[in-house]
Amino acid sequence: MYNAGLGIKRFQIIQQDGTAAAVNTMANSDDIRNVLERINSIQKTLEELTGRLRRGPILLKIQENNICKQQDKLDKANEELQRLKSAAKQKELEAAASDQALAKRKQQLLESKSNKEYSALQMQIKADEQARSVLDDEAFEVIEKAEKFAETLPPLETELKKLQDVFNATKEKFLKEKPGIEGQIAEYAADLHQEEVKLPREFHEVYDRLVRSTGGAESLAVVAGQKFCGGCNQQVPINSLAQIMAKKPVQCSSCARLLYLPPDFEFDKG
Ligand SMILES: [Zn+2]
Repeated sequence: MYNAGLGIKRFQIIQQDGTAAAVNTMANSDDIRNVLERINSIQKTLEELTGRLRRGPILLKIQENNICKQQDKLDKANEELQRLKSAAKQKELEAAASDQALAKRKQQLLESKSNKEYSALQMQIKADEQARSVLDDEAFEVIEKAEKFAETLPPLETELKKLQDVFNATKEKFLKEKPGIEGQIAEYAADLHQEEVKLPREFHEVYDRLVRSTGGAESLAVVAGQKFCGGCNQQVPINSLAQIMAKKPVQCSSCARLLYLPPDFEFDKG
């Protein structure tokens, strides 16, 4: 077991044949391991920050859709209420017309000149009164329906108001945070560039290609648990670990991330 920590100037790789090969390690902060570690850390921070910038408008869009859906529900409910109210109004008008017709016939009854006409009017009035009674029932039913339906509107309005409040609060919070996040992104991007220029050429070729294809944070991974790719958890072969210790650019065979060692890495052949 060999410790590759900062304080140790040298560490050894136990090779397949059991002999030990000494590898130099730089203790200064520009050691390739430290540079890769810092780059990875900055990339993760940048990803988190850009994620926050991206999520803001997405969240607002979702909340806006919820408001639209709720508004739509409320509009439809209002339309239905208007329909019920005008149906009730219609029944009232019909009842009034029916009352008028009935009064007219009763007047005609008083003025009738023959028995035949009188009994015909009597029959007519009886039929009209029955129809009038049915109309009353119908009017009562539709009015009751409209009143009951009207009760469903306030909860819909309350919910709409709640959704609008949530949207406004989210928007205000995002607009307040946005300039700060953008400022941080600019600062970290400058830091990132400062670190990237320290990469040796052979690392640059691999790194640049990975950044182009993955967009950043997924271009690097630390070796975790002494032998696993910190990005995809695939085991890193012992030869690859030796290569990394020899300061060669080594990519994970599974996820292609460029690998680097943690400060407390201990090379263990077993
Ligand atoms: Zn991997």
